[in-house]
Amino acid sequence: MNVDEILEKLEKGEISISRLDQALKSSNLAALVRRLYLERKYNVKLSAIASTLLDFEDLVGHNIENPIGAVQVPIGIVGPLKINGDYAKGEFFVPMATTEGALVAGVNRGVKTLTLSGGVKTKILYDGMARAPLIWTPNVEEASKLSLWLKSNFSQFKELTKQVTSHGELKDMQVFVVGNMVWPRFVFNTADAMGMNMATIASDRICKYIDDSYEGPHKCVSLSGNLCVDKKPSYLDKLLGRGKYVIAESIIKKEILKDVMRLTSYEIDYINKSKNLLGNAVSGSLSYNAQFANIIAAIFLATGQDLAQVVESSLGYVWTETRGEDLYISVTLTSLEVGTVGGGTWLPTQKEALQLLGIAGGGNPQGSNALKLAEIIASTALAGELNLLAAQAAGELASAHEKLGRTKK
Ligand code: NAP
Repeated sequence: MNVDEILEKLEKGEISISRLDQALKSSNLAALVRRLYLERKYNVKLSAIASTLLDFEDLVGHNIENPIGAVQVPIGIVGPLKINGDYAKGEFFVPMATTEGALVAGVNRGVKTLTLSGGVKTKILYDGMARAPLIWTPNVEEASKLSLWLKSNFSQFKELTKQVTSHGELKDMQVFVVGNMVWPRFVFNTADAMGMNMATIASDRICKYIDDSYEGPHKCVSLSGNLCVDKKPSYLDKLLGRGKYVIAESIIKKEILKDVMRLTSYEIDYINKSKNLLGNAVSGSLSYNAQFANIIAAIFLATGQDLAQVVESSLGYVWTETRGEDLYISVTLTSLEVGTVGGGTWLPTQKEALQLLGIAGGGNPQGSNALKLAEIIASTALAGELNLLAAQAAGELASAHEKLGRTKK
């Protein structure tokens, strides 16, 4: 079939948009045909969407279905950001993909302040990707028996995990029981991968073993029982951690605060506690910060992370103290989910962004690239918080956006 014949079939509803790759034996051609079909049907031009260096022959089956092209988002950089972490060491220019005017400029002012102050110290306190299946039992007696059985079979679950991944490792399991329902929450070390596919495949293998081997009455209701917790805000992720639990901190000398931000440590400490802590407590927000999501979304987009995980990756706290007239400031990200292999990290622009940070692909030692990315993101989030707190303390929030962030067209 040629393109015209296929288009005619599409218009008559004789073939579906998802069968085109197969019918045309080419995903790039299929993308073109879908565009032509939409252009005709809706009388629009999709030439901007068509303009991409992506090769859909490589992407379909891994990253996208029914492609028609790509969206382009500008990337700005902030830096040099000096980091003295356990994994990220040195000065970095960090790519941020965003359309929010004033964001990159603002974060860059925070970066400048941090680097002038000697940089950021970072530490990762926890690393583990979780998947929590939900298992039904008839009553609490059976739920309690299953819970004990699960705990006594942990080493078997570890062995099963080895059968489905060479990089993933089952490191922990928490068991939750509510009434007759049981959730084993499996936690995996996933090396340089964000690890959600890895954890899901391993959990599926373990659930099949539970079904085959556990003799009591039970039924696996769902491979994800929502105590994982993926792509939803939760206290559970905040308390137990998911992905990387990372802290970035710095002490800003009073002279630097005055020179770069025209403020004192007291003003920033006061606005953090009144806005980020009291304000969030009053609103019932789960996340005690001003704008983690801005920085995390922009770096996630630039480096090929799963964008929906901005939800739990942006959970966390900003803490400040005055130290004499200097300022201590830290950010704690409780559930930052990042990888440098898998997902969208291998796409051409995203891979270049990771190369810019020196962390494309698997790390040496294994897992170190993803840990380094987590430290870079936390440090950039610290810069974003410092700048935004300062802008609000100085009453500059609206004027910065008026100057840099308004659409002219
Ligand atoms: P993945 O690409 O599915 O798995 C990582 C792959 O890279 C594995 O095949 C692993 O091999 C290999 N690998 C090579 N070098 C590695 C290294 N140094 N460290 C770790 N792995 C290495 O990626 P994933 O992170 O598990 O999953 C990410 C994807 O899951 C994203 O596309 C995301 O959108 C999606 N996602 C899935 C779910 C779900 O429920 N399934 C939920 C949310 C998001 P081995 O397997 O042999 O170790």
